Amino acid sequence: VYQDTPSKDNYIPVVDHGAEAAKELIGHALKSRVEAIDHDLCGAGDEDTFFVADLGEVYRQHLRWKKNLARVKPHYAVKCNPDPQVLRLLSELGAGFDCASKNEIDQVLKMGVDPARIIYAQPCKTKSYVRYAQQNSVKQMTFDNADELYKTKQLFPDAELYLRILTDDSASLCRLSQKFGASLDTTAELLELAKKLELNVVGVAFHVGSGASDPKAFVKAVQDARFVFEQAAALGFAMHTLDVGGGFTGDDTFETMASVLSAALDLYFPPHIRVIGEPGRYYVSTAFTIACHVIARRTVNDATLGTTSYMLYLNDGVYGNFSSIIFDHQNPVPRVLKAGSDVRYDLRRSGYDTPSMVEYSIWGPTCDGIDSIAASCMFSEVLDVGDWLYFENMGAYTKCSATRFNGFTDSHDVVYVCSEPGAKALLGL
Ligand code: PLP
Repeated sequence: VYQDTPSKDNYIPVVDHGAEAAKELIGHALKSRVEAIDHDLCGAGDEDTFFVADLGEVYRQHLRWKKNLARVKPHYAVKCNPDPQVLRLLSELGAGFDCASKNEIDQVLKMGVDPARIIYAQPCKTKSYVRYAQQNSVKQMTFDNADELYKTKQLFPDAELYLRILTDDSASLCRLSQKFGASLDTTAELLELAKKLELNVVGVAFHVGSGASDPKAFVKAVQDARFVFEQAAALGFAMHTLDVGGGFTGDDTFETMASVLSAALDLYFPPHIRVIGEPGRYYVSTAFTIACHVIARRTVNDATLGTTSYMLYLNDGVYGNFSSIIFDHQNPVPRVLKAGSDVRYDLRRSGYDTPSMVEYSIWGPTCDGIDSIAASCMFSEVLDVGDWLYFENMGAYTKCSATRFNGFTDSHDVVYVCSEPGAKALLGL
């Protein structure tokens, strides 16, 4: 059962900390859960997909953010993974939150977070949600068009508005600029309208696209934001905050991205300007590992080549937690967790790292042909029904966009571990 609060049952204590200890902890959690399943007698769904989430990894990412982007106060993008324990930890760490809907705002407020720590970062909002934000004092929100300004005037005239500007998101995984962002030739007009409507524009926001890979996109966006700050000042607005959005990946490009962004911020924005960000993927991608069960296998004999390969069908796919393949352009890497009676978690012995022997294609459980997880991968052994695979880096844009297509569940267990004593202390574990 998915538990909102870690308990003795789903929380596994840690002695050491750091990335190596984390691996061991995650491996132990994966193995013990799978070993506890009686595959021959278990009830329907007892061998469902499950996640292992290392809250210590979220904590480490936060420290890394503070070290490299000291000037930027993170407002975690809840949409990326609204896991209640992740939100609780980030709240304890003093982060703010970027919410995109009434439910996300609600979830964060229910944790007791001050509404001033929330930004409703959705330039095209539902009217009743704006009323909800107003009733709950969630004042910060973004806009990028005139219609939204009229809506705000009607529903929440003293909102604190951020003008979201267009960016060059061509080097990102998920492009957002075809949908959102005011181009620089419209910003003066929008600010004039806001002035006429006596609205309170307090800053500029941008997003360089999710999974951004070119630091120059941040530099250009910061320059453009500075231009809009000057436009606003000329109209009598005293803008005080810049929102640099999300787009950061948790891989080793982060340090470069952060140092280029920090330099641009220091060059174009004096220290009294507050800077916030809306990272999502950065915080959670590496913190979640998923384990999936092999529910069926099809043997494919190629008489011409004299080879045998297999199609493996898992109990999760692109309509479930692997929605990230479609929506987030990911290529999750399968690794072996259980082969026959051997349950293990050994990076050197599985996945693409081993001498190849057997070829597999990996499929999801629905009746749709698009439900494909990996077209071709190699393992050094013959896998069968009852075996398990695991996939790392499954924390971002996975669980949150799963569907119930074909009657499968969209709600899977999360086993929490914590590889950092600092995070444990904060969570009272
Ligand atoms: N902020 C906004 C407005 C977004 O639309 C998104 C993602 O779509 C994010 C933040 C989070 O982006 P990322 O996960 O790339 O950090």
